[in-house]
Amino acid sequence: MAKLLEGKFIADQIKEKLKTSVQSLRQVPVLASILIGDDPGASAYVRTQAKIATSLGIKYVLHKFDASISEDGLIDFILKLNADTAVNGILVQLPLPASINYMNVCGFIQPDKDVEGMHPTNIGKVLFGRARIAACTANAVMELLNSTGVDLYGKEVVIVGHSEIVGKPLAMLLLEKFATVTICHIATSEAGKLQGHVERAEILIVAVGSPNLIKGEWIKEGAIVVDVGINRLNEKIVGDVEFNAAQRRASYITPVPGGVGPVTVAVLMRNLVEAALAQQQ
Ligand code: NAD
Repeated sequence: MAKLLEGKFIADQIKEKLKTSVQSLRQVPVLASILIGDDPGASAYVRTQAKIATSLGIKYVLHKFDASISEDGLIDFILKLNADTAVNGILVQLPLPASINYMNVCGFIQPDKDVEGMHPTNIGKVLFGRARIAACTANAVMELLNSTGVDLYGKEVVIVGHSEIVGKPLAMLLLEKFATVTICHIATSEAGKLQGHVERAEILIVAVGSPNLIKGEWIKEGAIVVDVGINRLNEKIVGDVEFNAAQRRASYITPVPGGVGPVTVAVLMRNLVEAALAQQQ
């Protein structure tokens, strides 16, 4: 029976260290958060971020815009935040309206204020293994894996999901540790090859957004399973992995909710404090 990889415990450890770092800053660090439209998931996430930021002594400033804002209008606003020396970090909440391209927008955030690590410069630094700020969810997965004490060197790692915010940066962080990384995606499923890849995984990370996509019986005995997916199913929040059946085979498994999510927010706050520290040097 797998041990639970509880995110709260790891998040609390990160946050405890952050409190000391925040106190060492000359000024209260400021995180500017941009929310567009009224997506209920994003609104709830913003409330969680604000609560955690405040508990750490970080000033969280929410900027809300109507879904009708244009990409150029949003970029103009980001340029103002870049120029505001009181702002240490800038965060654009997802999802964005279809008229706004996330990657275009991220490219206008000053790299040293890009607390989500999505500016091309910061993504490039991940590629070279020199990231000071790397994508929050990918980093959160690394924190969860580290907490198991697993040596990633030469391990068969399978990531399901190849998005820019999770799968791709995570693959780079894992390669840096000399894991053998396979990335699966929709075409892997369509080719009927997903099960075969998952069955080989000593470490499995799933970030798709499809409840019960990964069957418990596919999990290799003793595997570490990190489920990034967040889905609403029958009024409950579930991940992408059949949790109960997978727990019987894995050595460690993240719960959903309560696994990757809390660590992601803690890493976001750490990125903000890192940014503030670098800016005051
Ligand atoms: P995305 O939509 O950008 O990417 C989804 C990925 O899944 C793509 O690579 C796609 O090819 C793949 N995919 C889709 N259907 C598939 C199938 N049937 N078989 C195999 N692969 C398939 O998603 P995202 O933004 O990376 O988010 C993925 C999930 O992770 C969502 O549920 C999201 O809510 C969750 N998420 C959680 C956190 C967190 O902190 N816990 C953070 C980010 C995203």
